[in-house]
Amino acid sequence: MTKNTNVKIVFDELNRMFPNPDCELDFNSNFELLIAVMLSAQCTDKRVNIVTKDLFKKYNKPQDFANLKQEDLEKLIYSTGFYHNKAKNIIKMSQQLINEYNGEVPNSASELEKLAGVGKKTANVVSSVAFSAKEIGVDTHIFRVTNRLGLVNSKSPNQTEKLWKQFYPEYLGDEYHYRLVLFGRYHCTARNPKCSECKLQLICKYYKEKDKINKA
Ligand code: SF4
Repeated sequence: MTKNTNVKIVFDELNRMFPNPDCELDFNSNFELLIAVMLSAQCTDKRVNIVTKDLFKKYNKPQDFANLKQEDLEKLIYSTGFYHNKAKNIIKMSQQLINEYNGEVPNSASELEKLAGVGKKTANVVSSVAFSAKEIGVDTHIFRVTNRLGLVNSKSPNQTEKLWKQFYPEYLGDEYHYRLVLFGRYHCTARNPKCSECKLQLICKYYKEKDKINKA
């Protein structure tokens, strides 16, 4: 794979479409952000915000969660799905923060990844949003969109992250992350992407291949 020089055209258009991209999760501290991102696995941001609105009124510090009974937390986060594992990991992660990090959320993706239930994507999102780290949290949207556009040619989110860091280091950080996520969430959707109104048609690998098949 080589660097795709269309990356600039892509971000010119994404900057136009989403001039002020922001995290769609609600939070008031780095710890709340970490919990919200953990809850957002396999769940919409909208649903997470409904759950955390009440949750964070009662519990919003590592000490609060470290002392919770798993079944009590499960009831509070039930509607985000995978509540059993999420509750177990949130309690363990909170205990780790208290015992190993003075109750603070660590600022690097590599340290964040040592916490229970925190994978690469969560670590990268939290470090870039909370600490402006030059990372990219590759979720299903970014994986799909970057491959469709031909910016990467990858088989997994982890491979996408590696290739992105290798070829596009100037496009790391939360603002690029969010533009790609929003583009995938609202425009280049998994099913029925809005190709007919997309300004990136001419450079999109997926569109060109689809067009070629339609014309054959
Ligand atoms: S042309 Fe279609 S597939 Fe390509 S980026 Fe635009 S919406 Fe996505």
